[in-house]
Amino acid sequence: MKHPGFPLPDTSWEPTRGFWEGAAASELRIPRCDACGSLNWYPPPACRHCGGEALTWRAVSGRGQLFSWSHVTRALFKEYASKAPYIPGIVVLDEDPRVRLVTLLVDCNPEGLVVDEPVECVFRPLSFSEIEGEVIAPMFRPIQGG
Ligand SMILES: [Zn+2]
Repeated sequence: MKHPGFPLPDTSWEPTRGFWEGAAASELRIPRCDACGSLNWYPPPACRHCGGEALTWRAVSGRGQLFSWSHVTRALFKEYASKAPYIPGIVVLDEDPRVRLVTLLVDCNPEGLVVDEPVECVFRPLSFSEIEGEVIAPMFRPIQGG
């Protein structure tokens, strides 16, 4: 596979390949320790909780809570200029709030976001105006009425 240009993620890179394979199948997948059952993110070489070296990609619910976010109106890098305004955020998963995902928030007004509000994963094409191709990426949105 041709290596995509920055900032598109390289979906074939081994440490995160399972994450992108999951996204392509509309599943949020996180490495889970075979020994102690803990979810680990960002994918480590060994479990952060017990040191176990066997980790298996596991689909999670995709539900979580909004930990933090920012509203970017002027992109720091020119590659992101066509995406602005956008809302990068950090979401903690319902299955284990120690798991914090850096993500994009979609389908929402940044003025209306609230710390700890329930969010859910959605899968959207990620693309950039000057880069060929696109990648299906997990993003999050507030759960309506949640
Ligand atoms: Zn473990």
